[in-house]
Amino acid sequence: MSKVEAFLSSQEEQEIVKAIQVSEKNTSGEIRVHIEGTTKKDHYERAIEVFHFLKMNATKDANGVLIYVAVNDKKFVIYGDKGINNVVPKDFWNTTKDSIQNQFKQGNFTQGLIDGILKAGEELKKHFPYQEDDIDELSNEISKG
Ligand code: CA
Ligand code: CA
Repeated sequence: MSKVEAFLSSQEEQEIVKAIQVSEKNTSGEIRVHIEGTTKKDHYERAIEVFHFLKMNATKDANGVLIYVAVNDKKFVIYGDKGINNVVPKDFWNTTKDSIQNQFKQGNFTQGLIDGILKAGEELKKHFPYQEDDIDELSNEISKG
């Protein structure tokens, strides 16, 4: 079994998907998680590539957020679309990053992702509150590459 498959059990994946559903009840923003083993690219650059590959740049309000994890490299990146970056302070994602980092350091990957997702949802809520007519524009399932 590869490290990517071993990273989360299917039960853990479902818990993460549930956290995305909960978060997206607070905000029109769309949160996704992508997990892969390793990349030769810069992790931030790779996160942007995945963001486009998943068509996360096509949301109505440009408010997609990707949490990208390279398991073997022990790296993660939070990447938000320009609709978010245009209206938030530069350090906007720091609390979200910290939530994830604190759990990852202890080897709690599922909890780290859940905390990060919920935190991102709270942060997004301030600028992109949930709309009555909200559409789930992007799948909540975890993608792997
Ligand atoms: Ca939505
Ligand atoms: Ca969604």
